[in-house]
Amino acid sequence: MKNLLIVSFALAFITAPIGAKGKEETAISILEAMPDKLIVLTFDDSVKSHYTVARPILENYGFGATFFITEGFTFPTNKVDYMTWKEIAALDRAGFEIGNHTRDHMGVNPKTVDRLEVQLAAIDARCEEHGIAKPISFAWPGNGLDMDALEILRNHGLRWARRGGFPEYPRGGERGFPYEPGLDHPLLIPSAGIPRPDYTFEEFVETLDGARDGKAVVLQFHGVPEGEHPWVHVSRATFEQFMDYLHEHDFQVIALRDLARYADWNLEPKDPMAIVESRKAKLAEAVKP
Ligand SMILES: [Zn+2]
Repeated sequence: MKNLLIVSFALAFITAPIGAKGKEETAISILEAMPDKLIVLTFDDSVKSHYTVARPILENYGFGATFFITEGFTFPTNKVDYMTWKEIAALDRAGFEIGNHTRDHMGVNPKTVDRLEVQLAAIDARCEEHGIAKPISFAWPGNGLDMDALEILRNHGLRWARRGGFPEYPRGGERGFPYEPGLDHPLLIPSAGIPRPDYTFEEFVETLDGARDGKAVVLQFHGVPEGEHPWVHVSRATFEQFMDYLHEHDFQVIALRDLARYADWNLEPKDPMAIVESRKAKLAEAVKP
């Protein structure tokens, strides 16, 4: 309860200057309260098993999900390990969200950020060719971040963007924090769990526990499994076990864009890094003897 109060005060503080302008205030008032047990399911890198393994399982349970599409790696020629655009279009028609993950899986940093617009537009063009609406969600390739990219993403029409567990946790890890609307910038939504081969069922269950008190748990999967990058994948059996658990325990599983029901994509904290720094400080405090 104490934590909840702190969050509410912080929210009021951050939203006040924006709400005072009037426009967003109306948008906020129609939002639903974020329910407990809300899970956002995301899949990166256009991996074939997203279509062959994940799709039927998600359809069976009525789960939503976002598939972040890139033509990077060996996507153009390797149709054993990567989806075809026909398969991506079928995911879209089945009601799943198609998100932008840049044409070349381009890590965004000060040296590459000038090329971001072209990289985004290339995926939009492919979507248009295949009858898919222009994506409104983005995932940062390699989970790297560059604050100069925020304006480019916004101007491109992107509403939501998902990062990894970095910067609170080291890049390349499997852990992160649950998403807190109003505190997390909508273009810097953290992944709370990034399941890889070593990720255990116990860790998964523990991660899900973060989906309460106005916070949502965003999960980042790669292949289930995948051929080219097996060090980031999970096996089919593990993926089935995880999805069975979500179903059996009545979690609500949605795509990233579906957050719009509970959070305002227009609402940007004044300092996007404030919540990140406060979490890092808490982590540092926790490891002190
Ligand atoms: Zn990726």
